[in-house]
This record gives sequence, C-alpha cells and structure tokens, in this order.
Amino acid sequence: MLTECDVGIVGGGVAGCGTAIALRNRRPLSIALIHKAEARLFPVGETLQPQARELAEKLGILEELRRTPHLPSNGVCSAWGDSTLAYNDYLFKASGKGWLLDRAAFDLSLLDKARRGGVHIVESSYSRLDSGADGRWLLSTRNGAVIRCRFVVDATGRRSAVAAGLGVPRIRFDELHAVYALWEGRPEVFPHHTLVESVESGWCYAAALPAERFVTAYFTDKAQIKANRLTQPDRLLPLLSRAPHIGRLLSASSKLVGTRVVVADSSMLDFAGSEKGWLAVGDAASAYDPLSSLGIAKALGGSLAAAGAIDSWLGGESGEIDAYCRNIESGFDQYLAQRHHYYGLESRWKKDPFWKQRQDWIGIHPDWVLQRSGLRKKIPNRIVSSEVLEQILAAFGDEARRAHEAVRLVRGALQRRFSDYRLIQAMRYLVESGHLAVQASDGGVFGL
Ligand SMILES: Cc1cc2nc3c(=O)[nH]c(=O)nc-3n(C[C@H](O)[C@H](O)[C@H](O)COP(=O)(O)OP(=O)(O)OC[C@H]3O[C@@H](n4cnc5c(N)ncnc54)[C@H](O)[C@@H]3O)c2cc1C
Repeated sequence: MLTECDVGIVGGGVAGCGTAIALRNRRPLSIALIHKAEARLFPVGETLQPQARELAEKLGILEELRRTPHLPSNGVCSAWGDSTLAYNDYLFKASGKGWLLDRAAFDLSLLDKARRGGVHIVESSYSRLDSGADGRWLLSTRNGAVIRCRFVVDATGRRSAVAAGLGVPRIRFDELHAVYALWEGRPEVFPHHTLVESVESGWCYAAALPAERFVTAYFTDKAQIKANRLTQPDRLLPLLSRAPHIGRLLSASSKLVGTRVVVADSSMLDFAGSEKGWLAVGDAASAYDPLSSLGIAKALGGSLAAAGAIDSWLGGESGEIDAYCRNIESGFDQYLAQRHHYYGLESRWKKDPFWKQRQDWIGIHPDWVLQRSGLRKKIPNRIVSSEVLEQILAAFGDEARRAHEAVRLVRGALQRRFSDYRLIQAMRYLVESGHLAVQASDGGVFGL
C-alpha cells in the first residue's frame, strides 16, 4: 500500500498533530501522519499554562481545548526550598486560567482535527526510513504501508525514532525518570492547583483531573527507581505519604488505578533537522524537565515554527531548516540556565546526589590547568555528542593547558559553533568523567 504525499509525519501526539494542522492552515499540502494507538493505561502531562491560549488560537485549536474534558487550572502552588506553600496564581495573569486536561482526550481531538482537515492518518507503528532514488523519502510502517514523501517530520517524543534511524545522537543531560500514578477520588485540597513539592531525593507533583481523578508523579534518577523498586505501590506510597502536602491528598478514600514509569530527562537531538528534508518537533527535538510545565506549550509553539520552516523548504528556500535547528538549540541553552536556577533554590539536601548533580556550579575554574588523563573509557552523548567530546579531547594534544587557553583552543578546533555555556559544561563533564585531569596552576591538585 503506497501513499504519495508532500509531508510524512511520524507520531500523533501534540507536536505531530500540531505540525499537520499548522501546515494545512498554511496551504493545501498532502500530508500523511503515522499514528500508533498506544495501549497505555493513561498518557502523561495534563497541566497547560494560560500562555498556551495564544498558541492554541494561532493553530486554530481553541475549540478543541474548550471541548476537551478539563478542569480550570488556577495556578501552581509549591513547597520548594522549605515546606511553606507559595502560590503562583493565574488570577493575576492577563491570559486567564490554564487547563487541567484529560490528556488522552486532548491528543485524540487534535488527531481528529487533523483528519477532518484532510490529513491522511495511517494507523500503525513506524518501522524505517529510506531515501528513494528520486530524492524522496520512503517511510515504512509495521503493517506494510509505505509513504513516499518530500519531507519527513519526527514527532515521536523522547524516542526520536526517525532521527535515531538516521543516526542522529540524542544528547542527555540527566537520567530523570518519573513514577506516574493515576488515582480515583477527588483531592480534598488543591482541586484547581498543580501542587509541586521537593523531597529528599527528588520532587513530586499532584494535579486533579476531570471525572473525580487525580495524578501524582514522583521524580528521581532512573537508578533510584530501580534500586528502591519504586514501581511497587508498597514502596512508592510511603515516599509520597512522607511529602508533607502531597501526603495529605492521599486519603483513605483515594484508590490507586495504576502506575507507569516514564522517562523525564532533559535531552535533545544533536541537530533537530537538515536541509536534506527532515526535522524533529516537540519532545523529539528537545525535551525539558517537567518541572518547567512547558512541554505541551512548547510542542504547540514548535509545531507553528516547524510548519513555517517546512513550507519554506518545500517552496525551494534554503536556510530555514538550519535556522529552525539553531532556535531549538538556543532555546535549550536558555532552558538549561533556568533549570539550574530552579534546582538551586532548594538547599535542604545539598549532599544528596540527586540535588548535588543539579546544583553544582557549572564551570571551569580560571586557575585550573587541564590535561588529557589517558582514560580509555567510552564517552556517552552528554552535553554534546560523544564525537564532539572526542574532538575536545583531541584538541588538547598531550599538553597541559590553562583554563582560558583551553577554552579558546577548543572553540577554535571545533568545526561546529556551540554557546560558551555548553562548551564549558562539556569540558566540565570531561573533568567529572575523569577524561580530563585537573591541576591547580601552583601544581597542587584540585578537589571537585
Ligand atoms: C511525568 C511527566 C509529566 C509531564 N507533565 C506535563 C505537564 O503537566 N504539562 C506540560 O505542558 N507538559 C508536561 N510534560 C511534558 C509533555 O507531556 C510533553 O512535552 C508532550 O507530551 C510532548 O508532546 P510530543 O507530541 O512532542 O510527544 P509525545 O506526547 O510523547 O507524543 C509522541 C507520539 O509519537 C508516537 N510514537 C512514538 N514512537 C512511534 C512509532 N515508532 N510509530 C508511530 N508513533 C510513534 C507516540 O505514541 C505518541 O503518540 C510531562 C512529561 C512527563 C514525562
């Protein structure tokens, strides 16, 4: 079964449907969207901030938002830094209230809007991407469908399945995971606020949902979830109950429906697209820590930006996909600085590895003298791709270099430009992983 079209999109979440809708809003392109109906108990992510209203209006999906079962969201209250609750109330914001969404219903309403707008939906799982002899892409699905298209969009979330098939590295900045739990019952307190609370080895949140349900999510590093077997309710519940505010929500009448472990890391593609005719959008391009509560709005905004870049590319203009990729990268750099700031506001558990890793000063001390340590251990994709980390090491040669000289040298040696913030973080990572050895300029050894 072969479908010919202009654009093939993989992934029927907010970003995939949003891009399809935004493209069709621009002009009557032929679009096929591969959507895998997942047999999940429930999808994650429900709080939509009021600022999303403007993006929803631009995309023409305000009606879908209005019709999706939801509760009004009045804001966020958080106990972060100490156990006192602080309120960020939307009442005082110009854009009005936010939404606590039935997420499955919202994603389905976007898929339905795309279908009604003329997008051809292929119900299957994506399996591979090949480039055809005529310069077009061939997208294949598990059920044997093939889509021949000029442009491909990867909207598969953090899996970035299409980019992975193209060999594009996914760069991870941490190992954050969440145990997400769905409950039946109506929270006695905070029925219209998302509640965020920091705890000893992570943080958690709770939010009410329509139809007398609510969710809780416990965030920590992947290794902690495994070591403490937090997928088991009898291990998870005592942890949630110990959080002073969320613990109060879990009354005897709340009934646990189910739990899921989900990846919640900060990660991005090494590059989010190419002038050869593909790009990634939403979480596939770059994924933020859910503490930001920005994921859905970012997917909506990303859809509009992606559609603009694709439209220009199809019209024969060059440079728009590269510009789109640079925006993703600079947005991610800004986000990283904010993330460092927010985690830094918690000072109760400075020695706990979860907090320490997110709070440590990120930098290269001007007094450091750096040299390759000779460590042969394989380098993962961290901060930048493993290939770039190898290039940074190679730039050192066998010499010991003072910090400022090293930064200048590395910047000059790399073919690709990175922000100073990322370059310095990458060098810092090489110090922490033991690939770069540090001495003080007076010959002493620095302890990190
Ligand atoms: C625990 C947690 C809580 C969160 N809470 C919030 C929140 O309150 N507010 C907020 O704004 N954001 C939140 N987020 C983030 C938000 O959920 C994401 O940013 C958002 O869903 C991104 O949308 P997306 O379309 O890019 O990706 P996704 O929603 O992940 O959609 C990807 C789609 O691609 C499909 N797909 C994947 N692989 C294939 C394949 N091989 N073939 C076909 N289809 C495929 C999937 O089935 C899915 O439909 C949260 C995230 C986590 C992890």
